[in-house]
Amino acid sequence: MEPQYDMDDFTKVIVTENEIRRKLDEIAAKVRDDYEGKELLLVGVLKGAVMVMADLARRLPPRVQMDWMAVSSYGSGTKSSGVVRILKDLDADLTGRHVLIVEDIIDSGITLHWLLGNLRSRGAASVEVAALLRKPDAVQVDIPVQYLGFDIPNEFVVGYGLDYAEHYRTLPFVAILKPEVYGDN
Ligand code: 5GP
Ligand code: MG
Ligand code: MG
Repeated sequence: MEPQYDMDDFTKVIVTENEIRRKLDEIAAKVRDDYEGKELLLVGVLKGAVMVMADLARRLPPRVQMDWMAVSSYGSGTKSSGVVRILKDLDADLTGRHVLIVEDIIDSGITLHWLLGNLRSRGAASVEVAALLRKPDAVQVDIPVQYLGFDIPNEFVVGYGLDYAEHYRTLPFVAILKPEVYGDN
């Protein structure tokens, strides 16, 4: 299949499709080990985590379950407001469950910090975090991340689930958009 994107739209590819694939192989091997003999519930944070959830979950035994939450911590712009709201709650009851939150990116850490507190208060047996990306220079709240993909520079990135104005989520890699492209949105 021919790529449906134009590489000229990007200043830089931060993480390639191959790097993502290899990293998910590694993370999945650890998750399989750590949760052997346990029932695992993956909690994906919509919409950004859709790609990493789909690709991680398919590397795990088929008894793994998926549930979704939608929260909002940003307005329409690119800056964290610090206010987190539940837009869609989980279907699952977490009592006694082993929960792994699957996130696209940790920027300020505000969203995950709030989410960890929220899910832990629901009586789960364990709550851990898997995040594909983290911006160490942007972190305001330290999050214990059990499974981390890549530390990346403090730049606004798109692709592999991450959007700019709902665009670019479908890219197979993570990249920095050219400023001209922002102007068009
Ligand atoms: P945090 O609360 O850690 O600051 O980030 C919350 C959410 O903001 C992330 O889960 C992600 O959806 C979004 N976000 C943070 N940094 C970026 C970025 O560089 N690009 C995009 N597209 N979204 C981001
Ligand atoms: Mg997210
Ligand atoms: Mg977004």
